[in-house]
Amino acid sequence: MATVEELKRQFQQRDRVVRVLTVDGQLRAVAIKNSRAARTAQERHGLEPVGARLLAQALAASALLASFLKGEERILVEAEGDGPIQKVAAEALQVGEVRGYVRYAVPREDGVPLRLSTNPLGTHGLFRVVRILYNHIEPIVSVVELQPGDIAANFEYYFERSEQIPTVVRFDTAFDADGLLSVSAGVFVQLMPGADPAQLRKVEQRLDELPPLGELWAAGVMPEALLEQLLPAPFTVLNSTPIDFFCRCSRERFKELLTTLQIADIEEMRRLGQNELVCQYCGERYRLEEREFEELLKRMRARTN
Ligand SMILES: [Zn+2]
Repeated sequence: MATVEELKRQFQQRDRVVRVLTVDGQLRAVAIKNSRAARTAQERHGLEPVGARLLAQALAASALLASFLKGEERILVEAEGDGPIQKVAAEALQVGEVRGYVRYAVPREDGVPLRLSTNPLGTHGLFRVVRILYNHIEPIVSVVELQPGDIAANFEYYFERSEQIPTVVRFDTAFDADGLLSVSAGVFVQLMPGADPAQLRKVEQRLDELPPLGELWAAGVMPEALLEQLLPAPFTVLNSTPIDFFCRCSRERFKELLTTLQIADIEEMRRLGQNELVCQYCGERYRLEEREFEELLKRMRARTN
């Protein structure tokens, strides 16, 4: 049986997103640790550190926003530009599932480091936040121009421009000697409508005084404890959700998607031996058997009759 210490350690290592509201109603805040999910994403996609760091931040950003949603509602955070990293996309569900990917301008060998650039996403492009909500038929899309820097810089700018809410955002990542993510963390603090802006400045000041989030996490500080140090007033925890890298793709879903193509396209794929389907979000590979092609075509022909 596990010791109490062991259980405590396991609990501390668990990725988690915690959303709170100060009791004076001035600030709302979310703290996230998504080290494991981000590392899983890096390993699944064979990402070098620059891409892995951006994806870790995008995964954190989407999970932070998803903590405000309900059940299966979800958030997409996407940055696209003219830099060596063409696109970063992350998706999170309120229930704690996250997934995402990075697309390089020039396809890379697994894990080969990108030369460090201050603007890996480039200087021209778009930053997009998409909300997929229960009571809306269409996704709600907000777009701002890409800002220089990382996802944190873009995220902050997005709130200022698109939502006009003063927001403080920090993300932190650290890598081990093998270039794999050991820490990914983030915190997000927002001024409530009508609140005193000085409250947010206090938070910024405290953030500057505190050690990097990654160091706090490594020392066993939990998201709640971080928020206690950071926020100028006591708070109520509204939400505390474990986070996991998880993709809802399946062989069946891919096959269903294929049936939306033309019969001739499927026949062509089969003839050329293009039988591998790769999920861009999680890197899972599905190889179609000959009999599956047969069955697919049968299904499609039945529909056209
Ligand atoms: Zn997938």
